[in-house]
Amino acid sequence: MDIKSTIETVKGFPKEIAEIARELNNAKKIIIFGHKNPDLDCIGSQVSLALAMRERGKEVIIYSNGPFHSYMADYEKLYTNKVENIDDIDLFVVVDTSSLNRIDVDFELPFEKVIVLDHHVTNENFGKVNYIDSDLISATEIIFMLLVYMDYSFEKNKTVVQILLDGILSDNGYYKHIRTDKYMSLIFTYLLISKGANPKETYDKMYVNNNIAEIKLLGKILDRIESLKDDQIIYTYQTDNDENESGVQVSSALLFQQMTSIKTGKIFLYFKVNTAENKVIVSMRCSPEYDIGSICNIFGGGGHKVAAGATISGDYETVKKKYPYVRYDEKV
Ligand code: AMP
Ligand code: MN
Ligand code: MN
Repeated sequence: MDIKSTIETVKGFPKEIAEIARELNNAKKIIIFGHKNPDLDCIGSQVSLALAMRERGKEVIIYSNGPFHSYMADYEKLYTNKVENIDDIDLFVVVDTSSLNRIDVDFELPFEKVIVLDHHVTNENFGKVNYIDSDLISATEIIFMLLVYMDYSFEKNKTVVQILLDGILSDNGYYKHIRTDKYMSLIFTYLLISKGANPKETYDKMYVNNNIAEIKLLGKILDRIESLKDDQIIYTYQTDNDENESGVQVSSALLFQQMTSIKTGKIFLYFKVNTAENKVIVSMRCSPEYDIGSICNIFGGGGHKVAAGATISGDYETVKKKYPYVRYDEKV
């Protein structure tokens, strides 16, 4: 099956893709940014685009300040956070990142050279060229479309094909988040598997990646679950003390896998308390009839309608009192 004509038929290439392909073709030196605390969609987008552009003779910097989860160690090696001669860089590509402050970078990006590729509804369109497509479940789908548009030979590089599948399947929650208006990842997944990507390898990266300490801490955090409104609002927390004692963190993905299995639940919150820095990182999930992305936006964060987050200064008790579930309490 010809991938290009399939995508042309099922979705069509937006006009921005042509412009972005032209910019990439013309650039000699490219830097690719994602968001802090990169997830597999972010890594999949950054790494696949970088490796493909290197094959085309470009010099490409893959930038991140991390922190990387331990199961992403293989990818961490490809990254740097040291950039010299910023003036020599022709193109600054930002993927899977809704606003500049999510990048975690200590130099300014020259607006004229910035390209933004993202799927967050809350994206601030902070580039000269922006392709934001919130119909897509992952940013990696945009990179896939772009590489297809640029006639990239997927057969030649299995790493690129695999990391594209990893990125797409991670943000679609291994098919959990497919909706009647968001199903393109099913087709893209099929196309990537037909080019040699292995879905079992992705599954293992996503779900077979914990150690005993993480599962024990997960148990402790689940034990702290509290609820409001007839168990519709469900929340719990992790402290820096937990982290210091166990030496591990429980990712929001791992926690929400369990928490969202509570049948009555509609709004789910996970507070990661950082006493040392007097701040709380809030992760949220909700059922499709709510929109927590815009609520998190009010708190200086953002995300998607059903998966979002924010970082708020203050201690747990104060943040908990003013944070979303109190507001949602009125609506649920
Ligand atoms: P998480 O709960 O950390 O897995 O994040 C869920 C979603 O919300 C992801 O798509 C993040 O990109 C987004 N998100 C989390 N925290 C923030 C933030 N502080 N600002 C903007 N988006 C965020
Ligand atoms: Mn992401
Ligand atoms: Mn994403």
